Amino acid sequence: MDVSHLFNPNLDKIQISAIRRFDQEVSKIPGILKLTLGEPDFNTPQYVEDAAVAAVRAHESHYTGMSGLLALRQAASQFVSDKYGVTFDPESEVLVTVGATEAISASLMSILVAGDKVLTPAPLYPGYEPLIQLAGAEMVEIDTTKNGFVLTPEMLESALIAHPETKVVILNYPSNPTGVTYNRAEIKALSDVIKKYPVFVISDEIYSELTYTDEKHVSIAEFAREQTIVLNGLSKSHAMTGYRIGFIFADTSLTSQIIKTHQYFVTAATTVSQFAAIEALTNGKDDAAIMTKEYIIRRDYIMSQMTPLGFEIAKPDGAFYIFAKIPADLNQDDFAFLIDFANRKQVAFIPGSSFGQYGKGYIRLSYAASMPVIREAMTRLTAFVNEKRA
Ligand code: PLP
Repeated sequence: MDVSHLFNPNLDKIQISAIRRFDQEVSKIPGILKLTLGEPDFNTPQYVEDAAVAAVRAHESHYTGMSGLLALRQAASQFVSDKYGVTFDPESEVLVTVGATEAISASLMSILVAGDKVLTPAPLYPGYEPLIQLAGAEMVEIDTTKNGFVLTPEMLESALIAHPETKVVILNYPSNPTGVTYNRAEIKALSDVIKKYPVFVISDEIYSELTYTDEKHVSIAEFAREQTIVLNGLSKSHAMTGYRIGFIFADTSLTSQIIKTHQYFVTAATTVSQFAAIEALTNGKDDAAIMTKEYIIRRDYIMSQMTPLGFEIAKPDGAFYIFAKIPADLNQDDFAFLIDFANRKQVAFIPGSSFGQYGKGYIRLSYAASMPVIREAMTRLTAFVNEKRA
């Protein structure tokens, strides 16, 4: 009996992640150097690993409550209060999720129904649209390419007016893929627009610890708290991608709804990882600073190599990505350009079109890779471009 037609028809719109597909494709090339994935190349700090081992040895193998260990929610709440000056009650305003990924799915699935719209500045992280489509809703990309990838209040307001079906605005800053972030005045101005409309803001702040400006990260929850669902996690700040620990911070009126999807999706985050996360958030408050120093050196080096080749780059102030426009005299098809580069020079970046329609003609490099790998990649990119121009 053929049952394949019985799947949710919305699944037909969903593709396996273009980033993963491209990564798998180029991984077949022997000796390929990869600057593809958004995964810190640092090890998880040893004291965090020790805490995970200690939890295993202490037989911490049971379910936790669905919102996560209270001690972890307290540590997370303290962390965001110390760092960003926003306070959330650990008893009712913090949920521990399975990475920021589950925080995204639980939030979107708690809100969206068919016909709803979600606005987001683009180019954007490709982890949102499939979930929006699964709910039968529609994502509307706001083109920021002509403004250095920065969303202005005017752009946001015209999009909200043009799309009255909007229920959610997703912000992600520092941004994957562009590295753009917003200062206090900019975030406040965006929040002033948000507060005029009955919409949620899902604020994906997973790169909040990786900012390179003098001003520290500012959460939009500071200004539009009643409407804001803040997402964060330990994947990037503490190099803990595989532990799968994320957080939702929001008013109780919002968490009390989102916890329903969260509970039935996952029951609770992994117990051993939660114990490790307590350690990271209490004793590793400044762990990201060590990585940040290194990321700045890498970013500046890459920009110094690519700019003279004619790549246009809006200076990234956070995260660990360079999003560069392919020079006009080279192949503007980002996918073809990078396949050609990978085959000839054995280096892989990610085609910009993986980040939505406005990413066409761009390429994304992740500098969560060691300096020797980055140096070699730049040498090969220079040779590739020069050969094309010869
Ligand atoms: N949000 C953004 C913008 C990301 O870049 C990523 C991972 O690359 C995630 C969320 C998912 O993070 P996590 O590992 O916590 O699920």
